[in-house]
Amino acid sequence: MDTKIVHSNVTVGENGHLLFAGADTVSLAEKYGTPVFLLDDARVRTRVREYKEAMARNFGEGSMPLFASKSLSFKEIYRMMAEEGIGTDIVSSGELFTAVCAGFPMERAFFHGNNKTDFDISYAIEHRIGYFIVDSIEELTLIDEYAEKAGIRQKILLRLTPGIDPHTHQKISTGGVDSKFGSAIETGLAKKMTKAALSKQSVELCGFHCHIGSQIFEIEPYITAADIMLGFIADMREEFGFTAKILNLGGGFGVRYVESDPEINITANIDAIGAHVRALCAQKEIPLPTIYMEPGRSIVADAGMTLYTVGSVKEIEGFKNYVSIDGGMTDNPRYTLYQSAYTIRIANRADETADFCCTVGGRCCESGDLIQENVLLPKPKRGDILAVLVTGAYNYSMASNYNRVTKPPVVVLRDGEEILAVRRERFEDLVACDI
Ligand SMILES: *Cc1c(COP(=O)(O)O)cnc(C)c1O
Repeated sequence: MDTKIVHSNVTVGENGHLLFAGADTVSLAEKYGTPVFLLDDARVRTRVREYKEAMARNFGEGSMPLFASKSLSFKEIYRMMAEEGIGTDIVSSGELFTAVCAGFPMERAFFHGNNKTDFDISYAIEHRIGYFIVDSIEELTLIDEYAEKAGIRQKILLRLTPGIDPHTHQKISTGGVDSKFGSAIETGLAKKMTKAALSKQSVELCGFHCHIGSQIFEIEPYITAADIMLGFIADMREEFGFTAKILNLGGGFGVRYVESDPEINITANIDAIGAHVRALCAQKEIPLPTIYMEPGRSIVADAGMTLYTVGSVKEIEGFKNYVSIDGGMTDNPRYTLYQSAYTIRIANRADETADFCCTVGGRCCESGDLIQENVLLPKPKRGDILAVLVTGAYNYSMASNYNRVTKPPVVVLRDGEEILAVRRERFEDLVACDI
């Protein structure tokens, strides 16, 4: 038996156990306890290289992906991205601190966020952050002041909202005029921001950024966004004689969570965006900028898996069946937040017929603490290992201590070896801040 389940790194072994990146998940659950996050190192690097190669080929050397580390943030992941030679996005001083601890080269770090605090700005400048992605005029003024105090000229990009109607593409939620992020092109604010940035002494405007949303499977929204952004770049060249050196097109490529989701071809997508961007630059007679993209989910999601142990199995006759696990919304709040679809298997009996329909629930005192509803599994029993697939993105990074549940460890599977990248939280960690 060697058929993949959703992704090629998930298969079933001869013993009926679920294999992840070639490793026996039942043995891993035994060794590390549950819940536990697994991360397939080779898969992360393959995805990074797909982006890196396609972007260099389409947009020239210097163009590269910046890993959106809000999707998965701990020291080892920054070391991996540093080794792969790409950049990273950070959205808080905490992420910045983690990247610094990992020795990530700060010149390739980009600071995001719609409300950077004064502390964020001064802390990032102190650590010589590569770029700020500036969200508002107010922030621009602050960065200029802090950079002047530090005696540096701070590189920046301006975050613009291209005004793509979110109703046309439901999953696009951050590129609209009314978004909490960025400055709209449509209202004239983007132009005002550009003018203001060019007038500042201690910031160097390098170009523009947009991010239209997440879990996007279509290519058209990116093409539309590129059209609008390159149009703006051409306008600014005419208006102020300013030629943007950088255009950052954001992240958002979709990921296959269940068999019915399509699988995105990253290389083909970048080739399509590339052909369009190059043609448009030629047509508008502007030099091709260095292009950045900011993938998060599409780099780490399918490199992750979470293992749990089944506890209570409750059959409510005539209604539904609940299978409860030793984790839940504290390690994966995505079903609670967005009703996200997930693929689930019983890892120690992955070859058995799935004929028991159930709701997989967490252990929190909260009815909404569910991982998935209407799941078909071989009837689970206490002690079974339950695997949730494609949990690499926005699971560990969104984990909380609700109900004082400790956060699971992260085990990186690399070249047939295991690296404990994050240890399991202990009870002492829970009271570490309590006076
Ligand atoms: C969240 C975010 C990303 C990453 O999005 P994915 O869907 O994970 O690829 C990239 N850029 C910005 C500005 C973001 O906020």
